[in-house]
Amino acid sequence: MDLAYTEEEEAFRARLRDWLAGVLPKLPPKPDPLDWPARRAYDCGWQRALYEAGYAEVHWDASPTRRLIFLEETERAGAPYVGANFVGLLHAGPTIAAEGTAEQRERWLPPVLRGDEVWCQGFSEPEAGSDLASLRTRAVRDGDAYVVTGSKIWTSHAEVADWCELLVRTDAGAASKHRGITWLAMPMDAPGITVRPLRTLAGSTEFAEMFLDEVRVPVENRVGEENDGWRVTMVTLSFERGTAFVGEVVACRRVLGQLAHEARKNGRWDDPAVRRRLGRLSAEFRALWRLTQWNVSEAEATGGVPGTGGSVFKLHYSHARQELYDAAAAVLGPDALDLGREWNLDRLSSLSYTIAAGTSQIQRNIVAERILGLPKGR
Ligand SMILES: Cc1cc2nc3c(=O)[nH]c(=O)nc-3n(C[C@H](O)[C@H](O)[C@H](O)COP(=O)(O)OP(=O)(O)OC[C@H]3O[C@@H](n4cnc5c(N)ncnc54)[C@H](O)[C@@H]3O)c2cc1C
Repeated sequence: MDLAYTEEEEAFRARLRDWLAGVLPKLPPKPDPLDWPARRAYDCGWQRALYEAGYAEVHWDASPTRRLIFLEETERAGAPYVGANFVGLLHAGPTIAAEGTAEQRERWLPPVLRGDEVWCQGFSEPEAGSDLASLRTRAVRDGDAYVVTGSKIWTSHAEVADWCELLVRTDAGAASKHRGITWLAMPMDAPGITVRPLRTLAGSTEFAEMFLDEVRVPVENRVGEENDGWRVTMVTLSFERGTAFVGEVVACRRVLGQLAHEARKNGRWDDPAVRRRLGRLSAEFRALWRLTQWNVSEAEATGGVPGTGGSVFKLHYSHARQELYDAAAAVLGPDALDLGREWNLDRLSSLSYTIAAGTSQIQRNIVAERILGLPKGR
């Protein structure tokens, strides 16, 4: 394990920094954070700019270390982040790169990198969230297509997506519920799909319910073998927990800096308890960044797919993020509301992080069983 950056990596950082300094001042203003069609257009426009400058592939083709440098530099410069296409860039894309055939990689990866196509994730169902392997949406083979019927829930960005990474049950009689699942790429314009947006606490329709009524998905859209979807799903989840939130740690460090600045301005910094609280958070985010480097270094050494260390990261990160926004409310009081609408939306959305991508209880189970080797619960 080597956490130091090489000369070549530092040269990449310098090139990227120069490019960002030239391109960011010309970027149009950000759209309303609650307007997902406008955000899709904006985020895809940024992705196109990255593609044209040769930086688009950092999310999966380049080395994970380059990806870290990319995240550090884009966040430092205040550049947009993956946004509406986080599933395409951070979950489905890396899964297809790792598990897809050459034709599938050629079909799906370039449009994501160019910012032409957006993906969503159709994993969770009513009664199959933490216990994902209990999913019931079924797919029956009919010639060269699977006919899919069922429903999904909490599908982020379904409203604006072109493709869905979809889990279906292809063998209801399998010996265990983990067998008999298949991973499909479903085109979101296929007949039989109804998307019903759900409104969140923040007022956004960030996610949706999805109803699937005899939707035909070509067999060639299957990633991995039929009934081997659980294994492919573990690859997707290891990216989701291992690397997908990494950029946000850098964002939290920026927010913490802003909070310390505000506390100095309003005199709260003089209180040792406030300094202790912010100092503890600073240490926490530094530790998370080191953990990220360690996870990435391990992934690089073992073929590119992050390991279960991602669960340790996800567990700590989602709590630290909530503590950061709690600290802001405590330290600034009503002044916290003056930090702007985006800040307030981020504060509300911080509440969802201990649920999304697997709840904290589930991450603890994974750490206990797969890292510490404790016996499985009943
Ligand atoms: C903002 C947000 C975005 C999301 N986006 C998507 C998306 O794009 N696509 C998608 O498919 N899903 C998405 N989800 C769904 C998310 O993955 C699920 O909400 C999550 O997996 C929890 O499942 P559940 O809601 O069914 O809760 P449940 O599984 O019903 O859990 C309820 C409670 O019981 C606890 N619990 C359950 N089983 C155990 C156990 N064995 N041991 C200990 N405790 C347990 C849980 O930790 C939780 O506290 C999103 C969720 C959020 C909040």
